[in-house]
Amino acid sequence: QPTAPRPKETRVFVVANQKGGVGKTTSTVNIAAALTQLGQRVLVIDLDPQGNASTALNVPHQQGTPSTYDVLVDGVPLADVMQDCPDAAGLQVVPATIDLAGAEIELVSVVAREGRLKKAIAAHPQVGSEADAGPERFDYVLIDCPPSLGLLTLNALVAGAEMMIPIQAEYYALEGLGQLLSTVDMVRAHLNPELAVSTILLTMFDSRTRLAHGVAADVRDHFGDQVLKTAIPRSVRVSEAPSYGQTVMTYDPASPGALSYLEAAREIATRGSLT
Ligand code: ADP
Ligand code: MG
Repeated sequence: QPTAPRPKETRVFVVANQKGGVGKTTSTVNIAAALTQLGQRVLVIDLDPQGNASTALNVPHQQGTPSTYDVLVDGVPLADVMQDCPDAAGLQVVPATIDLAGAEIELVSVVAREGRLKKAIAAHPQVGSEADAGPERFDYVLIDCPPSLGLLTLNALVAGAEMMIPIQAEYYALEGLGQLLSTVDMVRAHLNPELAVSTILLTMFDSRTRLAHGVAADVRDHFGDQVLKTAIPRSVRVSEAPSYGQTVMTYDPASPGALSYLEAAREIATRGSLT
């Protein structure tokens, strides 16, 4: 079993891009599962009312299931709503239900509404240094954001120190990123000075097309070392895994998609925080 060094402190990643369909959820669940294969303990927080990460990780999330909604709106501790992922040892999930769609509006009247998730994560006994949080400590927390820059994503940007932006290697890839990056600047200036875009992940990379190579070159020119060397190839095995209630890491571990996610996770773990 390959392993990677465990970080000194829990690393909290915000997986965000306000564009839908770029591979946020797919990357969150597969990087999470890959990290557990490298001996890491991981918590995934599903922050999208669609609950796609909950579906992909095969945890119940029908309406009324204790979820991120309860954490954000009622201040319920994360420990009370998290579930074991049946597909990967060492992986736990805070599911999202459709109730979360209302949270954006319900939170408007709440005090310190953009800091609710940060507070919940900080209060979790398994978050922090190993000395403080014990052997069951989470090494990574990955937050899967909805495709918007509203109050849910804002809560994630306030809660995390590192941001992972999945970028689909296609023509419009860089469009809209300006808005995302100015939101990050705003959050850094006013709400979370620690926030850094540490990781850019190229997804759905089709190596046969010149377009994909061109987009990848543009992204690497623009973001430099923030871009992981490993790009995730477009592969039907990746997209069909959720319908079997599995990540591609267990559905087809020898497939190019699974191997790439494992390599991307290894890069993340070995290079540590760039902040
Ligand atoms: P987002 O969370 O950003 O909206 P998803 O992760 O849900 O994006 O991905 C959007 C669609 O693309 C899904 O149907 C997913 O299965 C598919 N997909 C994601 N990554 C790949 C890949 N590497 N190869 C093939 N299909 C993929
Ligand atoms: Mg998604």
